[in-house]
Amino acid sequence: MSANAELVIDLDQYRANLAALRAHAPGALQMAVVKANAYGHGMVPVARAARQASVDWLGVATPAEALELRAAGDHGPLLCWLAVPGAPFTELIGADVEMTASGVDQLEAIAAAGDRPRVQLKVDTGLSRNGAFGPHWDDLVAAAARMQAAGRIEVTGVWSHFASADEPEHPANDHQEAVFRAAVDQLAAAGVHPALRHLANSAAAVTRPSSHFDLVRLGIATYGIAPDPAVPVPDVRPILTARTVLANVKRVPAGSSVSYGWRWSADRETTLGLVPVGYGEGIHRTASNRAQVGFAGGRAPVRGTICMDQLVVDLGDRPARIGDPVTVFGPGDDGEPTAQDWADAAGTIAYEIVTRLAGRWSRTYR
Ligand code: PLP
Repeated sequence: MSANAELVIDLDQYRANLAALRAHAPGALQMAVVKANAYGHGMVPVARAARQASVDWLGVATPAEALELRAAGDHGPLLCWLAVPGAPFTELIGADVEMTASGVDQLEAIAAAGDRPRVQLKVDTGLSRNGAFGPHWDDLVAAAARMQAAGRIEVTGVWSHFASADEPEHPANDHQEAVFRAAVDQLAAAGVHPALRHLANSAAAVTRPSSHFDLVRLGIATYGIAPDPAVPVPDVRPILTARTVLANVKRVPAGSSVSYGWRWSADRETTLGLVPVGYGEGIHRTASNRAQVGFAGGRAPVRGTICMDQLVVDLGDRPARIGDPVTVFGPGDDGEPTAQDWADAAGTIAYEIVTRLAGRWSRTYR
């Protein structure tokens, strides 16, 4: 371990997850979503593994992410969906990044940045985030038809994003899918027939075959994590293990108080272990006094407030020495908690547990 703590990422398992997810959406192309540093797993190595696994597309949010992938030697189909005014459209188009247009101004900016650039149109079907909605969608369709007929752009895709796919029974899902179908029909009526229609994320890929269309955009499930505990994803496994070693061990008497604010006190003599990671590594402070770590084939509770660089665990009467391994979270095979367990303890979603991993971890790939 070169740093105090290490993230071990199993790229074989990542490729196996992608293969398993193919079986969930066999008729659709597969996009691996690697934005936000591949949800904390490390964008460039994960993207390479995705290409080795023959994914059809990679997806990122920001232009900087797209250009980082290109600078790292990635050449395959790549979609980018969150550009602000002033984004380096010429560089992006020159690097063969497919940009998303959510409005007429953006479409004009993309068209002006290259020689008949390929572009995908985003329709807002009810998430009210990016994408064109209502009359703005009508305008975008008209502009896209006009510009494509004039040879200024090539519309390769039309897409949208679900608000509640992780709640399969939520009425938003049927509504958004119907709005999406109408938007595709509207585009066709204007003479624009993009090859790629896409709507589904991980949860929809697993629970909603009607939403698969031509391509599914898969993020969280590729990392082996379910979008929600209520939406299990069969045949995938977590690929990340966050591990470190005890930096200190001490036997303390009953009544000893732990960490800032003295928010926990021992009611008996016990052994405390010092784990050298904290919110500087993206560990959620809201999991103070609630989360557990893996230790010696079992679990040890986090005691007191999680600090910037360290947290304290209660090892009870178990034998423990400085340097003994600790697994903060992992696949759960050796009794350690999972990212979902930490999410439950921190009052958040597992996406945030892995994506926030930052700071002083080293990353090892195998
Ligand atoms: N598509 C878009 C536009 C996204 O923003 C995301 C992630 O939030 C995804 C797909 C992947 O979603 P998930 O990680 O739930 O599979």
